[in-house]
Amino acid sequence: MAETKQNVILFPFMAQGHIIPFLALALHIQKTRKNCTITFVNTPLNIKKLRSSLPKNSSINLVEIPFNSSLHGLPPDSENCDALPYSLIIQLLRASASLKPAFRELINDLICRNNGADAPLCIIADIFFGWTAGVAQEFNVFHAIFSGAGGFGLACYYSVWRNLPHKKGESEDFLLPDFEEAGKIQKTQLALSMLQADGSDPWSLFQGENLPEYVNSNGILFNTVEEFDKLGLKYFNRKLNRPVWAIGPILLSLDNRAQAGKDKESGISSEFCKEWLDSKPEKSVLYISFGSMNVISLSHMKELAMALEASEKNFIWVVRPPIGFDINSEFRGQEWLPEGFEERVILGSKRGLLVKKWAPQVEILSHKAIGGFLSHCGWNSVLEALIHGVPILGWPMAAEQFFNVKFLEEEMGICVEVARGKTCELRHEDIEAKIEMVMSVKSENGIEIRRNVGKVREIVKNAMRDEEYKGSSVKAMDEFFNAALSMKEKNKRKLINGA
Ligand code: UDP
Repeated sequence: MAETKQNVILFPFMAQGHIIPFLALALHIQKTRKNCTITFVNTPLNIKKLRSSLPKNSSINLVEIPFNSSLHGLPPDSENCDALPYSLIIQLLRASASLKPAFRELINDLICRNNGADAPLCIIADIFFGWTAGVAQEFNVFHAIFSGAGGFGLACYYSVWRNLPHKKGESEDFLLPDFEEAGKIQKTQLALSMLQADGSDPWSLFQGENLPEYVNSNGILFNTVEEFDKLGLKYFNRKLNRPVWAIGPILLSLDNRAQAGKDKESGISSEFCKEWLDSKPEKSVLYISFGSMNVISLSHMKELAMALEASEKNFIWVVRPPIGFDINSEFRGQEWLPEGFEERVILGSKRGLLVKKWAPQVEILSHKAIGGFLSHCGWNSVLEALIHGVPILGWPMAAEQFFNVKFLEEEMGICVEVARGKTCELRHEDIEAKIEMVMSVKSENGIEIRRNVGKVREIVKNAMRDEEYKGSSVKAMDEFFNAALSMKEKNKRKLINGA
């Protein structure tokens, strides 16, 4: 008799930084759990884009639910943060609650049709879709939140939004009342939306509705590794009285990355990048990228360029037009970089490579010539650095990135903070000194950081081991599926006994 397939519902928020980790999770489940089918839910335009970015042999079911952005004060066809300025992202977040009736109908339909053969085993939803837990409860379906952010970063983020501790005193730093073990947080480590929150602004209202719903979920899946992220994982375990499963790092394979990012305008070919890196000594190149969304100010860009020139280190820098200029316009190096910079450092000594728009980041980080990564510390970038054992120079810019940097520096000892936020005071001498500290073979701190990064790389490898010995992340994924299956079985027995 054919084995019953277990339907796993995946539902990310409509932003590339959320859809991509969910896609990586979907492909991972597809590969490792042959008895599962996957239903990937999103709005029509996102599903259309996903259809062309799935590998050809994929059996993932893409299901769209209707969404009309114009009804929520958004420009027409705004279904992804990609298409919106920062100021409108909160509007898309709040508008996403309008997906509830259609999502509810979808779950109901899956349960009723086909003699229940398509009934969900579980719903795995975004950290911004707390309301889906209520829908799952209504239908007695197992529910988990999937966090693409790390445990420590999300714990600080959750605690700040739940308590707004920075509003309770004048001090420039404070402890989180329910997460004191995180240590002192400085006001400069808060994203703008947190700093401006007063409990009645749109972000406070959104988080005030979203986060309390977490207790209705059966647990949280984290794209992280238990061995190094215990503090944050324990926080959620304690706060929600629910299990947490550290199942990471789950990232797209190189092939799937190429497929998923094929609409990105690449600034350089992987082959050219590799050739250039092949010509450089081991661990001699600093890679600089601020992720998929962030750009820096013109004055920061100039200071960074001066620091790179003075450091005499090799570098690959993903450059985009500075804040205030059209993100899609041509990069004007002659105007935005110090005079003669490109002639001297790029064309002359060939010490540096400027990549305009988009770089093959994982290929770069995996090359042995890379010795450091100056990053905004979005969690995907962090995981990609850890997998390849690359020391980090942190420059957080938004969301939970500030807490990630604090964690990587203070708890893990694999990072040095270079700058903080988009408007901080920044001197090129300080950046240069920190580059030297992390990359120089003679620097005590650098030696310590490289040693720690090496240890973390081993921990990460072991966590994903799936041979005779199972790593912690593989075990956590088993535990998650066992919990979901056991709830489904229990419900079935109840139904039979009750009938
Ligand atoms: N990325 C890339 N090339 C670039 C910039 C970013 O491949 O030029 C990828 C990077 O490898 C990572 C993702 O985009 O997988 C960025 O995710 P992250 O969580 O680091 O930051 P976000 O963009 O969400 O702020």
